[in-house]
Amino acid sequence: MDTYDDSMAARFRQQLEQREQQLRALLGNPGEPAEPAGHEVADFKDLATQESQAAIDDVQLENARRELQQVMAALARIAGHTYGVCQQCGEPIDLQRLSALPATPLCIACQTLQEHRRTAAPRR
Ligand SMILES: [Zn+2]
Repeated sequence: MDTYDDSMAARFRQQLEQREQQLRALLGNPGEPAEPAGHEVADFKDLATQESQAAIDDVQLENARRELQQVMAALARIAGHTYGVCQQCGEPIDLQRLSALPATPLCIACQTLQEHRRTAAPRR
């Protein structure tokens, strides 16, 4: 398996910084400005559409915020020469995975475990 080494730092840093800019642009423009006043008599269908649209935007923004945190953490790891190593188990992350998901903090094994734990969590 190919793994990351510091000679690839510039390439990954560039990729991450591009993503950072995209995410910051997204988070800097949270949707359309509010509708002007005078729409009190909107019918229920319109209202429902607006509300579900807002909920989708919230999820997208939340995801973007989380991804931005991961991107920033990955950039910090590149600067600190600890990039490319799983934050959970300390094993090197497969280079193919890193290329596809440069901000990922976890190797595929730990990611799978985490998702499994999340979906298999017992109900209370
Ligand atoms: Zn791991």
